[in-house]
Amino acid sequence: MYLERGIKQMNVKLLKIAVIFMIIALISVNILGCSSPENQTKTAFFMDTQIDISVYGLNKDQFDSLSEKMFDEMMEMENIFSRYISGSDINRINEAAGREAVKVNEETIFVLQKALEVAELSEGAFDPTIAPLLELWGFGTDENRVPTSEELRKVLPLINYRAVQVNEEDSTVFLPEAGMKIDLGGIAKGFIVDRGRLAAEKFPVTALFINAGGDISIKGTKPTGDRWRIAVQDPRSPEEWAAIIEMNEGSVATSGDYQRFFEEGGELFHHIIDPRTGFPAGNVSSVSIVAPDTLMSDALSTAVFVLGLEKGLELLESLDGVDGVIIDKQGKIHVTSGLVDDTEILLQGGGRG
Ligand code: ADP
Ligand code: MG
Repeated sequence: MYLERGIKQMNVKLLKIAVIFMIIALISVNILGCSSPENQTKTAFFMDTQIDISVYGLNKDQFDSLSEKMFDEMMEMENIFSRYISGSDINRINEAAGREAVKVNEETIFVLQKALEVAELSEGAFDPTIAPLLELWGFGTDENRVPTSEELRKVLPLINYRAVQVNEEDSTVFLPEAGMKIDLGGIAKGFIVDRGRLAAEKFPVTALFINAGGDISIKGTKPTGDRWRIAVQDPRSPEEWAAIIEMNEGSVATSGDYQRFFEEGGELFHHIIDPRTGFPAGNVSSVSIVAPDTLMSDALSTAVFVLGLEKGLELLESLDGVDGVIIDKQGKIHVTSGLVDDTEILLQGGGRG
């Protein structure tokens, strides 16, 4: 389906490294552009991605202690949310499906409730109970394959966010049917980035930039007063930029069909699944969402990706303080009204010819 555009199956890790270099290049442009001697950066690898932080306004000791605290807290959260980590909250909830309610951390209750809100907002396009479908496709493992329609037919009824029972008072979660499983891959990274930003609040930071593989949080103004410039990659040529979003404080996250995918029978299949069909979703290639917090921009980028261009734009225009840049399958770039003046379009309609 996308092969006509000349993209062959790519090694996901290599692609990610390319993506990361691009982001570093952009950060460097920012940093060099405003030449602040106080700017300090650090990189770590977890959540299956690269995490970069860049901080203004701290001395070296303060920065060392902040970066250690930030990364520690973020990793701690990954240990709660990852369904692959045995003993994590999500892992225990999934193991106990159809049997019993499981006591979890307050963060799990919070993120799950937010996930259910976005599920409601998107009429189930975003669904945190998507995990059985992801397993069928082998996403999250090294063995991807296209499921049979019989397999899909069996699993689809298990995807049902409305059935999730969250008890805030007891801090428990119950999945009423055996085989149901939660996956927070479309929202947890955003929350974890927000946690990182929160850790910085006890430090005299003047400006802060966190980037976890495309989930970005920005706080404060650079010493020059320049706005931050966030590149949106060209989905058909991810080392190139399709657009630049200029922004002050807030968050931006991107979901794309070029981030994780595999090829079978000459077709490419990516990792964002439409819960209604069981197949990779939509008529768009990339969705970047600007929102006050990263949890929302992360979840909505996945939700809008599944909703597709028309319904996605409609949802974004209906939400206060939320905007987006959507690149459709033809490479055309669509920007919501609140972001038009802040977005520079570099490649309209697949401008590479
Ligand atoms: P990433 O930046 O990690 O690629 P995205 O924010 O684009 O993440 O979300 C994709 C992830 O969301 C998938 O890897 C999967 O874990 C999860 N996911 C896939 N389809 C859906 C869906 N319809 N609803 C909720 N989560 C989904
Ligand atoms: Mg997301």
